[in-house]
Order: sequence, then structure tokens, then C-alpha cells
Amino acid sequence: MSESTLREEIVRFGESLFKRGLSGGSSGNISVRLEDGWLMTPTGSSLGNLDPARISKLDDQGRLISGDPPTKEVFLHLAMYGERSGARAIVHLHSTHSVAVSCLPSVDPDNVLPPLTAYYVMKIGRLPLIPYYRPGDKALGDAIRGKARQHSAVLLANHGPVVAGKSLEAAVNATEELEETARLYLLLQAHNPRVLTEEQIADLLRHFPPD
Ligand SMILES: [Zn+2]
Repeated sequence: MSESTLREEIVRFGESLFKRGLSGGSSGNISVRLEDGWLMTPTGSSLGNLDPARISKLDDQGRLISGDPPTKEVFLHLAMYGERSGARAIVHLHSTHSVAVSCLPSVDPDNVLPPLTAYYVMKIGRLPLIPYYRPGDKALGDAIRGKARQHSAVLLANHGPVVAGKSLEAAVNATEELEETARLYLLLQAHNPRVLTEEQIADLLRHFPPD
């Protein structure tokens, strides 16, 4: 896919996420890997109103080479890419239901959400919780690196999800699956839902091996 097509895709998916309330204000950021660097949404930009020509272009060391300065959360993306050679795109949102779950003290930090549906198991699998860090704290990058090799998605405590995919479309779809599963989990809080069994999960992973 050409760089100009990838720029258009970032704009298209950004607008889609914004319009559906998954990325309010100037929160959330999207990146795509190029052969020799990355495209990244600019700092302070709204995903609902991106300009393809102003998207930040970084070289393979993460230095800005054209466009506006990148999101201040650029290091989250680079930490994830550094551990996942097959990742072509990353989506990071402050989407409401995922953030809500990230604030619950009762969740298992090694596997935040239960296996409620097959698609959640296939697209996300086990989701680790990364402890809270102040915005911009580079130690958050190290914490992500510690989990990213085993997991294509992580949830930052009191902050939001970071999700990698083989394409931008795959990363967006997985992020939405996570958000919807977080919403289901919250809806089911007062209940005692049936979740997929170990056997059902093993069967799914046999038929649909994760990335
Ligand atoms: Zn963030």
C-alpha cells in the first residue's frame, strides 16, 4: 500500500472512530509502519479532522522528517513496534468503556477481561494491565515493552488501550472488539455470566491461531 493511501486510511479510520464517540476531543492516536519509518497522528490533533498532508512522518529512529510534530504518546507506539516485528499499525484510544475497566481494582492484571465471546478471544486473547504512569513518563514505554512481545494489545491503567495489528484495519477492528467487550463486561457486573471454557478457547486458538 502506498504512503499516500496509508495517509488517506489514517484520516478515514480516524474520522470513523471520532464520529462514533470512540475518541473524544484531541485524545487518541494512530500510527502506521512504513518501510523506513512511521506515519503518526500529530500532537493536539482531533482524529475527527486530520489533514493527510500534515500527518507526522518519522524516520526509522523516530525523528520527525515532515508534517506536524507527532503525538506526545509516540513512545507508546515505538515501544510496541520494537517488540512486535509483524505489527503494521497501532491504535491507542481513551475510549470510555475500556478506560472504565482499566480503573477497576478487582480485575486480574494478567488478563483483564474474561473470554465472553469468540471474537474477543480471536482478536485480543489475554489482555494485560500496565500500571498507571504520569502522561509522558518514559517508564511507561519500558512497561509496555515488557508485555508487548506476548500480547498484541495492552490496557494502560486509568488511561486506555494500545492495540497493534497486521494492518490499520485489523488494529482498528481489534480495538473496537476490546471496547465492546469492556462494555459487555460492565453490563454484566451485577450478573454471573457464562464465559467460554478452557476447552472452547483451545479449540478457537487451534482454528484461528493468533498473530
Ligand atoms: Zn493516551
